[in-house]
Amino acid sequence: MPELPEVEAWVRELDPLVSRAAIEKAGPAHIATLKTFDPPLSALEGRRLAGSRRHGKNLVFPIEGDDLVVRVHLMSAGRLRYLTPSMKGPRTPMFRLRFTDGGELVLTEAGKKKRAGVWLVSPAQLDHDLAHLGPDALDVDAEALAEILGRERRQLHPLLRDQRVIAGIGRAHANEILLRARLSPFKASTELASEEVERLATAIRDDLQRALEMRELGKGDDDVYLVHNRLGKNCPQCDTHIARVDFEEHTIYYCPSCQTGGRLLKDRRLSRLLR
Ligand SMILES: [Zn+2]
Repeated sequence: MPELPEVEAWVRELDPLVSRAAIEKAGPAHIATLKTFDPPLSALEGRRLAGSRRHGKNLVFPIEGDDLVVRVHLMSAGRLRYLTPSMKGPRTPMFRLRFTDGGELVLTEAGKKKRAGVWLVSPAQLDHDLAHLGPDALDVDAEALAEILGRERRQLHPLLRDQRVIAGIGRAHANEILLRARLSPFKASTELASEEVERLATAIRDDLQRALEMRELGKGDDDVYLVHNRLGKNCPQCDTHIARVDFEEHTIYYCPSCQTGGRLLKDRRLSRLLR
């Protein structure tokens, strides 16, 4: 699933493009993709987007006049692209906005399961719909992080990717951040020394900023990720082989030397002993 750096890079790329011309035709939209029906999509026709923003992993397109907002969540397999008139688009997009200058904003989704979503709502409804999101990961400093970590005892990896706690980080960047911070994915949030909280806050910012810069240059997962999905490759910090452990429905990647004192995490139960 695209995480903060990828979504932020797309939002920055789309921002000037989607506001160039008014919307001529809104739709078609797949019945599984469009999550709202009132107002109808046709309410967008003749209107102009005021650019693009990001809330957590959501892309948000306010309408000029500020009475409506289009929200898009891509989930795992959704992709949103701006096509110029000379570019050939998909025959059956999940969602499409066609602009008066011939440009198109097109949502496609690979695979059979259609999980990406498009919402057309008022700004007040958007605030309500996104009220559960925690602060944006790029805005969390050490002081805010200390407060978040101290709220309840939780393991660091699931905590970091909980959108209600901090918005924007998923399982890939949780792996990257914890490697950089040299902290075990299963360490308890309430047991971090203040120096470790500082290290984690710095790792969140540095990892996401680096990834954002690389995504803006068009780099892919192989360049962006140093530990995620790199079982057996060398840790960039110490040359130890990257290991992995299954946890709930996820696979967590980590460096035993940098993060767990050389110990391999076997499973969740064993990991409790290794905190
Ligand atoms: Zn290492």
